[in-house]
Amino acid sequence: MSDNEIYTGAIKRLDNAISHSDMDEESLERLKHPKAVIEVSIPLRMDDGSMQVFTGIRVRHDDTRGPGKGGIRYHPNVSLDEVKSLALWMTCKTAVVGVPFGGAKGGIIVNPKELSRLELERLSRGFIERIADFIGPDTDIPAPDVYTNEMIMGWMMDEYSTIHRRRTLDVITGKPLSLGGSLGRNEATGRGAYDCIKQLEKRRGWKPGDITVAVQGFGNAGQAVARLLFADGYRIAAISDSAGGVYRDEGFDVPSIIQIKNETRHVKAVYCDGAICETVDADNITNAELMELDVDILIPAALENVITADNAERIKADVIVEVANGPTTPEADMILNKKNDTLIVPDILANAGGVTVSYFEWVQNRQGYYWTEADVNQRMDEIMQCEFDVIHDVMESKSIPMRTAAYVHSLNRIGAAIEAQGTRSYFADARD
Ligand code: NAD
Repeated sequence: MSDNEIYTGAIKRLDNAISHSDMDEESLERLKHPKAVIEVSIPLRMDDGSMQVFTGIRVRHDDTRGPGKGGIRYHPNVSLDEVKSLALWMTCKTAVVGVPFGGAKGGIIVNPKELSRLELERLSRGFIERIADFIGPDTDIPAPDVYTNEMIMGWMMDEYSTIHRRRTLDVITGKPLSLGGSLGRNEATGRGAYDCIKQLEKRRGWKPGDITVAVQGFGNAGQAVARLLFADGYRIAAISDSAGGVYRDEGFDVPSIIQIKNETRHVKAVYCDGAICETVDADNITNAELMELDVDILIPAALENVITADNAERIKADVIVEVANGPTTPEADMILNKKNDTLIVPDILANAGGVTVSYFEWVQNRQGYYWTEADVNQRMDEIMQCEFDVIHDVMESKSIPMRTAAYVHSLNRIGAAIEAQGTRSYFADARD
């Protein structure tokens, strides 16, 4: 899929939903164009004394409902169209969960694994130096995304504060706890997806021990959802990262795999007793094989476009929970929707727990008053469960795919905000 196709695909989702929503065509037209885009070059002094120039992008898609909100990604494949698509999805996602933000996204074209930690810090601070007038606590609030983490958010907040000569905790979310982060933020994305699965469990009468799960991508979000499901007795039968995966029908001890992944940066089939980890019987599988496993729940939690027209026919999972942003192409959607029994819990709902707790972090920073983890989790669970149910009901009442239902729900909220500023008929009436 070319970069431009990603954005065209993102727009197509809006087109599919508009006829079921209350939004008028004029408001939709607005949403098809990002509000503002900035591309910057970041010269970076490397540890060996040489200099390399990196490209950074920030897109503010829409801020009608509140300041732009969205992560910053470090990846060699970052492109303007990808960032525009991710920003558009953020606009829809913040509306899905009803938090008072719009949508934004950013990225640097870089392979962070090739940089030293000091180079990474200089690059992160350099990016903020370039976009310091574009972002802000009332305009556009970044957060972590693929290959960025809380330490990077801490550096970025510190750099922004230095430039503006004022400690500005609320400019970035996903920060370390000691720098104004929120309890519960680290696992929020995975926890939100877990909340969706628990709502399905109730509706479908699942017994966790009977349900097998495959998780593609074992970073922040993938680990959290796998750990929570494992704790409830679900069988996490397959796990992968960028280097490949492991499969075992009876399921893995998820805390052991998290432990080894965090120690060695690799997913390995192990059982750990304290610091001693022993290999357990399992098959090594590729990421492509993981997608086609005969499991009950498939959780793509890595990158976009992993379920495409090429493999959609062979996907056997009954339920796909999109923790990653944009893992399913529109063509694959059509194939899976025809299968009828495949339910896709779409990204703009399934991974919205992250932005929900980011909102809580921003609120706490502005209040200067911090909540307990139980408080954060409870507030998030309430929002996720409620929005899941609303969207599930829209899906059933209108007989449309759950993705379209999620877009309908978000377009209704965004449309109401845009139209509150005046519609075509309002202005036309005033002329008469
Ligand atoms: P992360 O960097 O912590 O982890 C990414 C994981 O994906 C790593 O384990 C990496 O090895 C793996 N990976 C990379 N390329 C892969 C490939 N080709 N095949 C299989 N695995 C691969 O990132 P994250 O924060 O967990 O984000 C994962 C996804 O979730 C992204 O799509 C992101 O946009 C989305 N998301 C994250 C958050 C959040 O709060 N972290 C919020 C919303 C959405």
